[in-house]
Amino acid sequence: MTRIAIVGVAGRMGRTLVHAVAQNAETTLAAGIVAPGSSLAGADIGELAGLGKKGVTAVDSPAACVDDFDVLIDFTTPAVTLENLAFCAEHGKRIVIGTTGMSDAEIETLDGYRERLPMVFAPNMSVGVNLTLKLLETAAKALGDEGYDIEVIESHHRHKVDAPSGTALRMGEVMADALGRNLKEHGVFERVGQCGPRSDKEIGFATVRAGDIVGEHTVMFATEGERIEITHKASSRMTFARGAVRAARWVAGQPNGRYGMQDVLDLDT
Ligand code: NAD
Repeated sequence: MTRIAIVGVAGRMGRTLVHAVAQNAETTLAAGIVAPGSSLAGADIGELAGLGKKGVTAVDSPAACVDDFDVLIDFTTPAVTLENLAFCAEHGKRIVIGTTGMSDAEIETLDGYRERLPMVFAPNMSVGVNLTLKLLETAAKALGDEGYDIEVIESHHRHKVDAPSGTALRMGEVMADALGRNLKEHGVFERVGQCGPRSDKEIGFATVRAGDIVGEHTVMFATEGERIEITHKASSRMTFARGAVRAARWVAGQPNGRYGMQDVLDLDT
């Protein structure tokens, strides 16, 4: 049985994670952590998630529940995640990180912990998205250097704070790697005014923010005469939460290292 603590338990993903952990027969809802000073400290985390009393009260720091859990699941913000990563490394815990929007410097800091604890870090925990990454790698290898333009279009709810989505960037990286291109050089994130025609090797990104869209990604491979589109649509946050719980169970049995969902699912991308 894997004892799980959920950070940001009052957030959108946090509340969904309470449902996913409660539904999994191999995991225990061990602790829920809210922001320091939050008025929700002391609330029952089952009630916060609309599940009824679960007998676990929210605390406002990982230190307050350090003896209760084995794996921390963190979907918060980059700064909070890095603090929790340091805490887990110091206290012999494991961590699953779903937080997106990290800068290169923050990812470098995160990577510095790879020898100190087992961690899973993935911008998208959905099994379907991770399979889609594999399909994109195959499509990019077959089409990318044969005159097909590659464009990534992503849509999310109006509250999302980072753009393009971590998933869109990951899709871009997988395709760029498959084609021997560098996304930093070939990624195009803005087109406005007299920006000229596209180049052959660029990978373009477009962002939509509207309403309550959970998460949609389409990658277009377009050439003269035909267009292939590979689309993934998430209709509920439960897909991310179930993937995170699967990652938590998996990482509980791994040696120190930084892993992604491709490792959890054995997809080898
Ligand atoms: P949210 O704003 O609804 O939730 C974040 C929660 O963290 C809030 O309740 C906030 O109070 C809490 N928080 C802030 N500081 C804290 C602290 N020090 N300790 C404990 N809790 C703290 O956001 P969300 O929609 O749940 O998304 C959170 C993150 O997860 C974002 O980066 C989002 O992009 C990412 N996300 C990733 C995936 C994935 O599959 N990897 C899926 C969905 C969302």
